[in-house]
Amino acid sequence: MSLASDFIQSSAAKASDLRHRAVLKKATDNYFGKVQQSKATYLDWNHGREAARSIKWLAINQLDEMLERFESNAEKAGAIVHWAETSEEVHKILEALCARHNVRKIVKSKSMVTEEIHLNSFLEGRGMKVVETDLGEFIVQLRGEPPYHIITPVMHLTKEDVDETFHEKLGTPLGSSAEGLAGTARRVLREEYLTAEMGITGANFIVADSGAVSITENEGNARLSSSVPKIHVAISGIEKIIPRMEDLALFLPMLAVSGTGQKLTCYNTLISGPRRQNEIDGPDEFHIILLDNGRTNLLANATQREALHCIRCGACLNSCPVFRNVGGHAYGTTYQGPIGSVITPHLRGLDDWGHLASASSLCGACTDSCPVHIDLHRHLLEIRHDTTAGAKFSMVQQMILKIWAGVMRSDWLYAAASRLGRFGQKLVKAFELEGSILDPARNWTGTRKPPAIAAVTFKEWWKSRGNLAKN
Ligand code: SF4
Repeated sequence: MSLASDFIQSSAAKASDLRHRAVLKKATDNYFGKVQQSKATYLDWNHGREAARSIKWLAINQLDEMLERFESNAEKAGAIVHWAETSEEVHKILEALCARHNVRKIVKSKSMVTEEIHLNSFLEGRGMKVVETDLGEFIVQLRGEPPYHIITPVMHLTKEDVDETFHEKLGTPLGSSAEGLAGTARRVLREEYLTAEMGITGANFIVADSGAVSITENEGNARLSSSVPKIHVAISGIEKIIPRMEDLALFLPMLAVSGTGQKLTCYNTLISGPRRQNEIDGPDEFHIILLDNGRTNLLANATQREALHCIRCGACLNSCPVFRNVGGHAYGTTYQGPIGSVITPHLRGLDDWGHLASASSLCGACTDSCPVHIDLHRHLLEIRHDTTAGAKFSMVQQMILKIWAGVMRSDWLYAAASRLGRFGQKLVKAFELEGSILDPARNWTGTRKPPAIAAVTFKEWWKSRGNLAKN
């Protein structure tokens, strides 16, 4: 079965799962309430978006120079910088590091790039224990699931679901309170921090003018993962670059508002170099791995390159009507929702992943919600174009398209086709055939209530307003 058919099947199953949709609706409604409140504190949110867009434009259009500046400043601060073209190269770098330092246990903070390169399964396959320390990631790791959302890995779960998972995996009593469950996770994880030899984190931003890695989180787990073990490795996609430290004054609040509706995320950490001589905390070695993994393919595409501006806030997922119905797991990718549908075909191949661009109503809600104003729905349309470019249509398809084009171009044919359609709709309704094999619209009516048939067509209504319109 192709990935496209997998997607259609899993999204159809999720869309008809009313419990799943109710959980998702509650989570996204709650999110939008908080986002509105936080945006209201801005004098001009759109002005901020345009400023953020220009900064990312500058960073991505000078990516080579920015990255070299970052590398040079990071090394001056004592970091060891590695370049990786593919996930396999990251695996090799880490395998060698782990062997050199006899690493058996790794604590990890939330990082989508490590999901992208399937790092946990690689390291576990080499006999290492990898512990996710972000609470949401810890829960999905216990359940053996991938993260559901780029910001909120357990958006699909209720407190009762987590209660059951903890009961089953950690032996907590059923019916534990949320505080009790969080306390259990804290106790388990503290022990892991203290006994791990390596900590792995992602990076929300990497700052060219200082060589610093900026990490944003709400639980303090990234600080512990990066400072308690003797070795810290930060893995970052090359697109996470921003030019100056002062740019964080714009990006950190915008990421928080769009990501979770907070004015600022609880912990914002800047890391440059390992522990200095007079410092009591911090790792002995600090490694930064800069990963390409298909990003330069996107960079080479002048019309879609701006997708590299993404700061992974997740706002476009929450606002997308498709995501809100099918959820994150249906996509079968690391990056879900509109941004996932734009970047995945570039990162993992258009032939296998181009179908995701069709999972959009092109309503533009994603573009409106994006804090760096990426024109997401236009990119989705471009990918649809790229997917079908050069496609060969059968004789029947060509004939259908010709008839369709002819009807759409002719006023009277269009009016006649509408009348015919309405007549058919009335027949289906009169004989109660909706959703049956005899219903030509059964793919739609099989799972939805058809809209009521209007008394008059739009054209008839428009004509009836003729005198009014002329006035
Ligand atoms: S595309 Fe925009 S809205 Fe979507 S995750 Fe990236 S920054 Fe956020």
